[in-house]
Amino acid sequence: MTQTANTYDELSCQELVELVTDYLEGALPEELHTRFDEHIAHCTGCSTYVEQMRLTIAATGSLTLESISPEAERTLLAAFRDWKRSG
Ligand SMILES: [Zn+2]
Repeated sequence: MTQTANTYDELSCQELVELVTDYLEGALPEELHTRFDEHIAHCTGCSTYVEQMRLTIAATGSLTLESISPEAERTLLAAFRDWKRSG
């Protein structure tokens, strides 16, 4: 297996979840925005999460994380842990 060299640390799923509103606002620094894109390019869970956030924002016109219930967020993070349980 060949590992591609990265010049930056990969975002964790939890970091991505914390950054998603800034990402959708276009408020992330360019480097962080790129790292975010790299992550969702290969992480189906986060890609789906970002898409759901996009739809939530489109529906509510709001970028607040309050749009997502704490229960939904816990479920999501638990799913991330499950997917990554070997790592
Ligand atoms: Zn992820």
